[in-house]
Amino acid sequence: MRLRIAIQKSGRLTDSSLDLLGRCGLKYTRGKDQLMCHGENMPLDVLFVRDDDIPDLVQEDVCDLGLVGLNVLEEKRLAFRARGLAPLFEQVQLLDFGHCRLCIAVPDGFDYRGPRSLDGTRIATTYPAILGRFLDEHGVQATVVVLSGSVEIAPRLGRADLICDLVSTGSTLAANHLREVETVLASQAALIRTPVPIAPEKREWTHRLLLRIDGVEQVKGSKYIMLHAPRSALPAIAKLLPGSEAPTVIPLDGRDDRVAVHAVCRENVFWETLEQLKSVGASSVLVLPVEKMLA
Ligand code: ATP
Ligand code: ZN
Repeated sequence: MRLRIAIQKSGRLTDSSLDLLGRCGLKYTRGKDQLMCHGENMPLDVLFVRDDDIPDLVQEDVCDLGLVGLNVLEEKRLAFRARGLAPLFEQVQLLDFGHCRLCIAVPDGFDYRGPRSLDGTRIATTYPAILGRFLDEHGVQATVVVLSGSVEIAPRLGRADLICDLVSTGSTLAANHLREVETVLASQAALIRTPVPIAPEKREWTHRLLLRIDGVEQVKGSKYIMLHAPRSALPAIAKLLPGSEAPTVIPLDGRDDRVAVHAVCRENVFWETLEQLKSVGASSVLVLPVEKMLA
C-alpha cells in the first residue's frame, strides 16, 4: 500500500511543493506530462493535478495528503457548505510558500471610501464564495461576476467595475491600472489530509512524512548560534537570542568565568542582534544554517 500526495501539476505552487518533498528525502523521476510519479525510496506517489482539484481528491480519499493554497481551501469549504456538504479534509499545517492575498482592487480614479463604496458595483472574481462572505459581512449589495481567469482585465473589457483577485507583489495590478483597497483573505500553502483513518500499512510512513514536513518547515529561517560569553552575561544573552529554546552552556577548558553557549534560534538572526550580543560581552559569535531538524 503506497501513500499518495496531490500537488499542483504546473503553476506557482509546483516547484516549492516538489522542493518540500525533496527536502523530506523523497527521490523520484518525473516524466513529462506524467500524472503520477513514483517515489523511489519511499512508498509515496505524487499525483500532479490542477490545484482546484486537490481538496476534492483528499476529501474523497483518492489521495491521503495534498499541498494547496488556503485560498482554494477556503473557497472549497464555503462551496461544500453551500451544497449542504461538510468539508471533511483536515488542515494539518501551514507551509512557508505560496504567500499571497485575495484582495479587492479598483481602477485608478475610483473613489474608494470603505466597503460601502462597493454597493451597486459589479465585481469580477474566481472566488465567488469568499468574496460573497466578505460582502455579506459588510452588508454590501454588489453583483459578483464569476470568471475562470484573466480577472485583472475585466474592468478594461467592461465586464466588471472592479475585481477581487490574488495578488503577491502587486505588479500585475499596477500594470492594469488597478489599486488594492481591501484584503479579503491572506493566503499561503497548507498541508491537508484525508478525513478517513489512514490504513495501518500506511500509518508509519504517514507519520514519518508529517514529522519530516514539520522539520523542514521549522528549519526554514532557523539558525544555530555558537558564542563565548562571561557566565554572568547568560541571562542577558538568553534574552537577546531570538526564538531560542534553553541554550546549551558548555564550560571552557581552563576558564571559570567564560562559557560557550550554543542555541537554535527559530528566527533569522540579524547583524543588530550580533552587535547587541557583543555589547553584553559575547565573543567568537558564529551563526550557522540548520539543515535538518526532528522534533
Ligand atoms: P491550475 O488551476 O491550472 O492548477 P491556477 O491558475 O489556479 O492553476 P496558479 O496561478 O499557478 O494557479 O496559482 C496557484 C496558487 O498559487 C494560487 O491558488 C495561490 O494559492 C498561490 N499564489 C501565490 N501567489 C499568487 C499570485 N500572485 N497570483 C495567484 N496565485 C498565487
Ligand atoms: Zn487553479
